[in-house]
Amino acid sequence: NFWSKCIDHLEHDLPQQQFNTWIRPLQSVEEAHNIRLLAPNQFVLNWVQNHYLDNITSYLQTIAGSNAPTVSLEIGSRANTRNSQEQPTGSPISSQDKPRARAPRPENDAPMPSNLNPNFVFDTFVQGKSNQLARAASIQIGENPGTAYNPLFIYGGVGLGKTHLMHAIGNMILDNNPKARVVYVHSEGFVAQMVKALQHNTIDDFKRRFRSVNALLIDDVQFFAGKERSQEEFFHTFNALFESQQQIILSSDRFPKEVSGLEERLKSRFGWGLTVAIEPPDLETRVAILKSKADQLFGVDLPNEVAFFIGKRVRSNIRELEGALRRIIANAEFTGRPITQEFAKDALRDMLAAQDKQVTIENIQKTVAEYFKIRTSDLLSSKRSRTIARPRQIAMSLAKELTNHSLPEIGEAFGGRDHTTVLYATRKILELKESDHRVEEDYGNLLRTLTS
Ligand code: ADP
Ligand code: MG
Repeated sequence: NFWSKCIDHLEHDLPQQQFNTWIRPLQSVEEAHNIRLLAPNQFVLNWVQNHYLDNITSYLQTIAGSNAPTVSLEIGSRANTRNSQEQPTGSPISSQDKPRARAPRPENDAPMPSNLNPNFVFDTFVQGKSNQLARAASIQIGENPGTAYNPLFIYGGVGLGKTHLMHAIGNMILDNNPKARVVYVHSEGFVAQMVKALQHNTIDDFKRRFRSVNALLIDDVQFFAGKERSQEEFFHTFNALFESQQQIILSSDRFPKEVSGLEERLKSRFGWGLTVAIEPPDLETRVAILKSKADQLFGVDLPNEVAFFIGKRVRSNIRELEGALRRIIANAEFTGRPITQEFAKDALRDMLAAQDKQVTIENIQKTVAEYFKIRTSDLLSSKRSRTIARPRQIAMSLAKELTNHSLPEIGEAFGGRDHTTVLYATRKILELKESDHRVEEDYGNLLRTLTS
């Protein structure tokens, strides 16, 4: 079909990061004379429209001449489209078309996806004093999995590059040995899969699958806290892999011994191999990361003064740096204005104000509860009535917008909810801000209260 040819062409033509960031997330629905491209959000839609659409159209004309289909862009995903011939472009996580994603495995055993993000590789990881050791250890392990250090335990604060490094190791192992079975899973995902296996009576399958990998990467093990059955299961998986010299890579927000709510025997095993820290980056590294991201993701040459401005103001972590960069570039894209320091300052006003005021999830919850005249505890409860659920969604969205916390962390802070609930809330509110005048106003009022 036309779109898959077009994809091949774009993949060949574009820098890989740009391809992965903008083209891979698109899903396509091919109709008789038109290809509908579904973008996950407005930003991607606009970006593709402004930067790649001409290229796509003219390429289609080259291959199909006057039969070339037209192309239309809309926001959506395949889950929302029915009764049409749908062709996923490829999941952003693991691309099925690459032979390296496959490994030989027993029949009637569904393959475990590697879940690796192709953008998270060593090439895109900027080196600095703060991450030198963690990076070097990771490369070692990528080159000699199972033999150098086992397990590798990477710890450090939110948004400092732990997940990126883990994926980079996984990608490297697969690059060197396409048959290796590499599996990345967030500890919450491990728990969820285990619960599902218990429900469906497939726990033996679950055990076998996890124990037959060559490299198991478990992210954010602090989320195992208090989940005893999962810890038990993971303990056995760990032992099996360790004994057969398969690589285990773990991350956490703190040093193994300091992760609370974990069994002692797990904590001690976590320290058996090599434990490395990632520290917050210094100014020069922040600037280097910003310039590199602007180029890789957006093809934008970020002026030094702007990179220094952002780097000086946003100090906490790299995820937030990236958020700031995205915001500035999205703004520049919409307004068509050049990216100057003044412009950056303007675009980041809310975010910087929130940072200066050190907005926390707790004071967001308090402020939202007061605003809607409900109790803070209601926000954390399981109540589902609209009068509670809507404020809760608004509070979650504000937490996402104004703090650096990840979705799982926000979920945790809202009475132990799943990160998908938070994701759903932020999408819902984004949608309602467009369509429901009241929500837009409430959100705006709250944003101002919290940041001024
Ligand atoms: P963590 O898992 O520690 O919370 P992530 O690995 O998710 O952090 O990193 C957050 C973002 O910052 C990601 O988009 C990642 O690519 C980026 N990032 C982190 N460290 C670096 C680095 N040294 N160079 C380039 N990008 C980085
Ligand atoms: Mg992470």
